[in-house]
Amino acid sequence: ATPTSIMVGTGRAAELGVLFRKGDALQQLQQARVIALDKTGTLTLGRPELEHVSPVNGFDREDVLRLAAAVEARSEHPIATAITRAGPADLPTVSEFESLTGLGVRAKVAGRDLLIGSPRLMAQNGIDLAALTAEADLRASEGATPLFVAIDGKAAALLTVSDPIKPGTRDALERLHAMGLKLAMITGDNARTAQALADKLGIDDVTAEVLPDGKLAAITALRDRFGALAFVGDGINDAPALAAADVGVAIGTGTDVAIETADVVLMSGDLRGAANAVEISRRTMRNIR
Ligand code: ADP
Ligand code: MG
Repeated sequence: ATPTSIMVGTGRAAELGVLFRKGDALQQLQQARVIALDKTGTLTLGRPELEHVSPVNGFDREDVLRLAAAVEARSEHPIATAITRAGPADLPTVSEFESLTGLGVRAKVAGRDLLIGSPRLMAQNGIDLAALTAEADLRASEGATPLFVAIDGKAAALLTVSDPIKPGTRDALERLHAMGLKLAMITGDNARTAQALADKLGIDDVTAEVLPDGKLAAITALRDRFGALAFVGDGINDAPALAAADVGVAIGTGTDVAIETADVVLMSGDLRGAANAVEISRRTMRNIR
């Protein structure tokens, strides 16, 4: 690899909004066999909207939404923002708020105990979801994320949120596939939800319901199966995976921690930048040999 051709490649990438932070990354990216991608904020906009509220066990829709919105106002998770946006402006006071990373949230509000989050969180707390699983599975297989609300230890409602696919994602993945790369998704989201999106986008492999400290293990497993790996992510919880990947690619509109950890930054946040990056790395290295 001549320093000049690397400079040229890096410069051309920069014109397309792809920042190679080391010449090394340009060389390593062309060796990648698999591109692993985070889901929320990377493949999708990362701005989910509340779609459905299905109360059970005699709970009232507006009551549940008001209590859930109050609790989620304390969380910065995109799911929390979706729920709070859908609630009323005037929210009751919350105490004993607790965020359970990768699972959900818990707090006291208006004298009740609220638990909001994933099926796993509900199972851990002995909440009986029998009245809600059929609908949750159906909506998840349509691509929505199912969340459960439990009040005072009883299932109160199913909430579903849906996060649109980013413009550019479909095109980017088609181009990466056409270059012979395997595509994998790594996400903390529900397995059915993740699989539905993977089917829509033609993604080859899905690792779902990964807790934040599990993303690293997922990277290692994918590398053992497919070979050299690039990981694309945007979140704080993606930083370990970005560091562990052969090439870490951060979404430029993502969190500072992800951007600082990455070897390559896609300035616009558009995934087509990842396809451009691979093309440029291959072209540059071909010229060199
Ligand atoms: P992702 O890979 O989508 O960023 P996270 O690890 O942030 O995944 O979240 C995984 C799951 O944990 C979510 O799909 C949801 O079920 C649950 N969860 C996380 N934070 C919250 C929250 N504030 N309210 C409700 N559920 C949450
Ligand atoms: Mg993300």
